[in-house]
Amino acid sequence: MKRAAIYPGSFDPFTLGHMDIAQRALKLFDQVYIAIGENTGKAPLFSAEERRAMISEVFKDDSRVHVIVFDNLLVDLMKKLDTNVIIRGLRAVSDFEMELQMASVNRVLYSSSESVFLMTSDKYSFLSSGMVKEIASMNKSCLGKFVPKMIEAELKKKF
Ligand code: ADP
Repeated sequence: MKRAAIYPGSFDPFTLGHMDIAQRALKLFDQVYIAIGENTGKAPLFSAEERRAMISEVFKDDSRVHVIVFDNLLVDLMKKLDTNVIIRGLRAVSDFEMELQMASVNRVLYSSSESVFLMTSDKYSFLSSGMVKEIASMNKSCLGKFVPKMIEAELKKKF
């Protein structure tokens, strides 16, 4: 039986930190669904469809990765995809409280759901999509240090 996991997030945009977590998840699971949340309450820089297209391009040569958009409860998506594993990345202690809350809610909503927390490489422990957007609005020349090449090009077009 193939083991599948869902890696949900806003990914606005997908960074090398997200990439690091996705690659780690692929060491543990046969299939990884990168699930882009449409309803996060934040006004996104990239539309969900733009994010889906960009992340699909990043993983175009890896058939183990599936990129999808969802606008319903994560647990409903999990049931639909027949998986009970949620992947989340941890950067610093500051991520922990929110992640604990979400994992607990998901477990109440779907008792067999399990959240798996993966620690990023030290070199990405400071990296967030918000920081990338801020840097992109001021200086585009260093974006390659933070996002995959293809996403760097799309960011340059936006700013
Ligand atoms: P959300 O808005 O759901 O937090 P994000 O796109 O910001 O979505 O993040 C998705 C997941 O990836 C979260 O678990 C977040 O902690 C993790 N993540 C984001 N950036 C990094 C990073 N640099 N290293 C490790 N994990 C990260």
